[in-house]
Amino acid sequence: MVFRVGCHVSISGSVDLAFDRAKKLNCNTFQIFTKNPRGWSARQLNDNEVYSFRDQLNHKILFPVVSHISYLPNLASQSKEIYEKSINSFLLELERSLTLHIPYFIIHGGSYKGSAKEQGFETYVNSILKGVEITKGKVVILIENSSGSKNSITGVFPDIMRILNEVNDKKVVQVCFDTCHAFSAGYDLQNKKGVINTLEEMESLIGIENVAIIHANDSTGDLGSHRDNHEHIGLGKIGETGFKELVNHPLLSKKPWILETPVNEIRGDSDNIKYLKMLRNKELWD
Ligand SMILES: [Zn+2]
Ligand SMILES: [Zn+2]
Repeated sequence: MVFRVGCHVSISGSVDLAFDRAKKLNCNTFQIFTKNPRGWSARQLNDNEVYSFRDQLNHKILFPVVSHISYLPNLASQSKEIYEKSINSFLLELERSLTLHIPYFIIHGGSYKGSAKEQGFETYVNSILKGVEITKGKVVILIENSSGSKNSITGVFPDIMRILNEVNDKKVVQVCFDTCHAFSAGYDLQNKKGVINTLEEMESLIGIENVAIIHANDSTGDLGSHRDNHEHIGLGKIGETGFKELVNHPLLSKKPWILETPVNEIRGDSDNIKYLKMLRNKELWD
């Protein structure tokens, strides 16, 4: 079985350039933003980059290709002004993913700050339903688990299960499991026992068939610290033992793994990809 592993790749200049960048980093799957992640605005995609992107996607050498929502949207926001901007950006980015034929679009949980959790859930679920109206399942929306900071609505599996149940169509809305976020939210992933307990809980509440993508990130923050600080694989608090258990666990071994690890003098993306592959047991390879 091919081990699908890649990282987040830049679309600077033209979205289709992401494929060559991903290949150079030894990815066979990758993630992009479809627009500048730091602002609300987006430049228009031009036909040439769209056709080139779709064409390369069709070759299925690098797949799946995943898009991730930009940084600013908060789909559970209780501020009218922020919510308007957030829903517009979410729908725009979904449409761009649809145009590019990208099969998965990852969103964060959002924060209901200034209001009750119930209202946060309602706003969030309604946001997703608006997205589903546009995608009709052609782009699967993936809810990413968060590090469970105050007012976050996707920090624990029961909350994610509740959202999936309320959206009520798991083929069009599924989950992206981020290892750093899970660990900082309080799910122990440092050893075999912790990994087994966490994955069994995920399997029983969400169902492994509803987990489409793994975000592989180690964590600088401690277990339950609610700090979202990514670290190179094996060099953070989850550590090498934890990742060895994760990457070889039968519930996760067939999933695509995408890194969002730092790039600095210690390691770059291709180093972390190599490292994750090194932790994989030989019998899981072709
Ligand atoms: Zn994310
Ligand atoms: Zn992530």
